[in-house]
Amino acid sequence: MSLGRTIVIGGGAAGLMAAGRAAQRGARVLLLEKMSRTGRKIGISGKGRCNLTNTAALDDFMRRFGKNGRFLRQCFQQFFTEDLIRFFESRNLPLVTERGGRVFPASGRALDVVHVLNNWLQAEGVEVKKTSAVSAILVTQGQVTGVVCNGEKLACAKVILATGGKSYPRTGSTGDGYRLAENLGHTIVPLRPALVPLVSRDPRVHRMAGLELRNVQVRLYLDGKRKGQEFGELSFTGFGLTGPVILTLSSSIVDGLNNGRQVSLSLDLKPALDDKKLDNRLIREFTGRGGEPIGSILRGLLPQQMVPICLESCDIPGDVDTKNFPGKMRRRLVQWLKDLRIDISGYRSFDEAIITAGGVSLKEIDPLTMESKIVKGLYLAGELLDLQADTGGYNLQAAFSTGWLAGSSVS
Ligand SMILES: Cc1cc2nc3c(=O)[nH]c(=O)nc-3n(C[C@H](O)[C@H](O)[C@H](O)COP(=O)(O)OP(=O)(O)OC[C@H]3O[C@@H](n4cnc5c(N)ncnc54)[C@H](O)[C@@H]3O)c2cc1C
Repeated sequence: MSLGRTIVIGGGAAGLMAAGRAAQRGARVLLLEKMSRTGRKIGISGKGRCNLTNTAALDDFMRRFGKNGRFLRQCFQQFFTEDLIRFFESRNLPLVTERGGRVFPASGRALDVVHVLNNWLQAEGVEVKKTSAVSAILVTQGQVTGVVCNGEKLACAKVILATGGKSYPRTGSTGDGYRLAENLGHTIVPLRPALVPLVSRDPRVHRMAGLELRNVQVRLYLDGKRKGQEFGELSFTGFGLTGPVILTLSSSIVDGLNNGRQVSLSLDLKPALDDKKLDNRLIREFTGRGGEPIGSILRGLLPQQMVPICLESCDIPGDVDTKNFPGKMRRRLVQWLKDLRIDISGYRSFDEAIITAGGVSLKEIDPLTMESKIVKGLYLAGELLDLQADTGGYNLQAAFSTGWLAGSSVS
């Protein structure tokens, strides 16, 4: 009796969109969510504000996903930023665009996004079962026939697998989908935490825990070779470093560490001044304020918490005569302010990673429909796929778009 129905596994961004869209197109849809609520990760996204997409143009948008971004072209041609914005605004959720093209609900509440999606599913007649964990997908002669949920077999003709990645597992994304897909013959590109805080053993870093820096230029070195740079904010923690600049650089760093490369970051604390200009500024400070303690002069250039660390690192005694400040010391100071080197020894776990890099190989998915090339009637969507981008709303748009396309394709 239930043979013709579609089962969606996972009620996150991709699964909710897929379920609503499939039902809208006439499919009979059952959504199975293992947690007691749908959309938990959406609810905590964007620091509780949900940066649901970005207004970047198509080519730029796809570039944010690296070389795998090309896979999304056909999907984005079906459902892209403007469609998503229209989707929410037409359902009484006004959106605002902020710095860097980031789009948020005007209410500032991520949960409003979840409410819109839940209401839509209800209106389209999707049956939603919570606390329903799927443990297997049943296949007969290469064709989906059902799933096993809470130990019970449920028959269906189509399955949309949208179980997310394995980061922030407390939201329900515990990586089940990788195993489900692998059991059916899919290849899993190795999983790594991405957009993840970094670990450093440098004791200076631990002494600066809690300190937030703005307008810093951070350069990444792998085996001493410069491999990237980012400008913006970072913060020191008890274990290392985090913040937007660090998260953006983290993917290259995780891969570098996994390949046994030596990783260090160079912090330019005065990026607006080149070495010469910074040296002149110091000369002016020492001329104008000579006689004051070095600590109070440095407080004009650095956060207070950094001052003793700067003095120790540059080997400058606290009682140095600032009227006759030695040129050698001044040059060491310039060097430190422009190139504070921090060795990175590791990265935090999936528990703290914003997304999961790696996933179901895109080679095995039809980009026009999201259908598996291995099992007929199986569709995959969202973070489960080998797709990952920087922060800025790209990841959620990819989840919504792949979900939309999978939902359109089943019916
Ligand atoms: C703290 C944080 C902040 C973020 N902020 C942003 C942001 O502002 N903008 C942005 O673009 N991206 C953001 N992301 C990333 C974005 O939230 C995810 O990429 C996106 O939610 C992935 O959607 P998904 O539907 O593929 O997976 P998920 O949202 O993870 O949903 C998967 C669902 O499947 C369910 N499930 C898992 N296994 C089973 C099973 N066996 N049976 C049944 N159900 C199952 C889970 O419980 C879950 O509800 C953030 C991520 C985190 C962790």
